[in-house]
Amino acid sequence: MTEILGVTIPESSFLNMKEDEIRKILKEQHETLPNGWKSEHVEAWRKPLKLVRDYKKNIVQRIKGESISQNFTSHEYGRLSHNPDKFPLFYLKSKNWDDDKPSILIVGGVHGYEPSGIFASIEFAEKNEDNNFNYVIFPCLSPWGYEMDHRWNYEAQDPNRGYVVNSDIEECIHFMDAIDTLGKTFLGSIDLHETPDRDITLRIMRASRFGTPLVQDYQNIPQGFYLVVDSYYKSGKDGFIKSINNAVANVVDIAQDKEVLNVPNENGVVYLDIPGLGATWLRENNISRYAATTEVYSTPIGNKKSIEGQLAAIKGLCENLTLEIKS
Ligand SMILES: [Zn+2]
Repeated sequence: MTEILGVTIPESSFLNMKEDEIRKILKEQHETLPNGWKSEHVEAWRKPLKLVRDYKKNIVQRIKGESISQNFTSHEYGRLSHNPDKFPLFYLKSKNWDDDKPSILIVGGVHGYEPSGIFASIEFAEKNEDNNFNYVIFPCLSPWGYEMDHRWNYEAQDPNRGYVVNSDIEECIHFMDAIDTLGKTFLGSIDLHETPDRDITLRIMRASRFGTPLVQDYQNIPQGFYLVVDSYYKSGKDGFIKSINNAVANVVDIAQDKEVLNVPNENGVVYLDIPGLGATWLRENNISRYAATTEVYSTPIGNKKSIEGQLAAIKGLCENLTLEIKS
């Protein structure tokens, strides 16, 4: 159960209902919620949220740990303004940076309630098994969301819609500034996400928060892993996409749903142009030649398996780009 502005929203009970029934309930609940939030709504939304994790203990300590420090330097690239002491932001950069090697960018925790990307990127840095590339790793873009186990940031904004010029989303501004300061381009990048069952509930909140229509916004939760990429990659250059999904298929199921996010699902690949996505920003600005967003269906498989899926996705990307640089 989630309580949002005094309205109680069931979560798991949706899973066994028919789509029409879900739509009806969502519509009723949506009608009782405000249509577009003012600052007092954001405050009221934030009030009952409880801290469930510890960013410094679980993440910062680990990225400053010995195994990562052997191969990476960590860099603070900003602090979240509502609590700067608690939320310094870090990225990792390969210690032995070699400008003759291509580089890969790995991003986790854009949505703080999707922890598998955070821990897969940390584990990847700890193991440091692939020396064909330089790496820049942003393990956790949204530490407040991580601590509160929420998709949104402190201001109830969605960080994976904020990679735009004149963005007002702090997490994205810090990231884009850090990329700009780094001054590097990447052969490939991967942004690690999850799609949990909880997203059904979040859709009601999103419609209320942003005053957007609800019914059109209802979709099923895809039953497995899928990759979101720009439609740009439809015209070829899709070797990295296949390589990622092949690697993931060894570990977790690939979504077989006919449609995902209202577009055809092509064997676990969804071509989608959503303004403000991190991967889109990286590709459009020629920061990364290949850019993909992973979506692990985390609810049935749990965190450990989700991390394995994300690690497989990173590996699949590296494998394909290794072939590319050697060909
Ligand atoms: Zn996400």
